[in-house]
Amino acid sequence: MVGQDPVVSRETATHQGVAKSLDDTPIAKAAERATRVLTPGAAGTLPRPPHRRIITVANQKGGVGKTTTTVNLAAGLALHGLRVLVVDLDPQGNASTALGIDHRAADIESVYELLLGEATLSEAAQKCPSQENLYCIPATLDLAGAEIELVSLVARENRLRNALDSAQLDALGIDYVLIDCPPSLGLLTVNAMVAADDVLIPIQCEYYALEGVGQLLRNIELVQAHLNPRLHVSTILLTMYDGRTKLADQVAEEVRRHFGAKVLNTIIPRSVKVSEAPGYGMTIIEYDPGSRGAMSYLDAAREFAERAVAGTGTR
Ligand code: ADP
Ligand code: MG
Repeated sequence: MVGQDPVVSRETATHQGVAKSLDDTPIAKAAERATRVLTPGAAGTLPRPPHRRIITVANQKGGVGKTTTTVNLAAGLALHGLRVLVVDLDPQGNASTALGIDHRAADIESVYELLLGEATLSEAAQKCPSQENLYCIPATLDLAGAEIELVSLVARENRLRNALDSAQLDALGIDYVLIDCPPSLGLLTVNAMVAADDVLIPIQCEYYALEGVGQLLRNIELVQAHLNPRLHVSTILLTMYDGRTKLADQVAEEVRRHFGAKVLNTIIPRSVKVSEAPGYGMTIIEYDPGSRGAMSYLDAAREFAERAVAGTGTR
């Protein structure tokens, strides 16, 4: 090493005297991954599904990663060249926030107007400001009242399905519609299930992970029997996995035993970055593209899209 410029050689010595390449540091690796992910075209493209797919992301348990999964999976698909529309069906509007849409602004057309027939899909869909190929129909606080207002409307369970007009989705070139549900099994979630081809259930790798899933599955069967014969559970995504705990592995194993091939191989790790991103109005893929959280959602998006084309994830 004598006489060698340490910068030019890209070698550094640790205090134990062990040479370590700068390229091997975690920060350098993350930076390299980030550049790779964000270079136009470098992410590669994913196959378009044979038909447009409408997917409901549901689990009546709160805090399991529905919204996080909806926006980051959507961003992952969009980064790979697919056109995605996120429908925010939770009055809290967290998906809209994470996608950088100001859903508190006065006079925006939102999913509330869409459900009540006061706005069309093309009026309510907004292009997300910082990502190509990504659109969002935002939720406003008005939506909190919709659950009650919908009760007296004609075809109350079919409002979203009717509003997701094929011609208007075609005009936007949408390949995937992802619907983010509120944490309940009320009329909004039923609307999402009637509009969808299939359901993606995020399951948190924590205690009581499967609590309530039985009830969710029974509701899906009810909707399938009475309102939407196409509906089925296609995908399970394990979220907030903490490799340091035995419990996380036990939950993951139990979920795989229960749901078999429906469970994506990709597991989303618990990561602070993932939880920080929405605070900046960003998906994890914009906020920290080289992070483990971003890479895992990109992997999940790839797996999800490839299964759709192979037909394994659609039935
Ligand atoms: P839900 O929509 O099911 O209520 P969220 O997606 O809002 O769940 O997630 C609940 C909380 O957990 C949020 O604060 C979110 O930022 C955080 N969170 C979600 N996924 C992760 C993750 N992989 N790592 C760390 N925090 C996460
Ligand atoms: Mg949510």
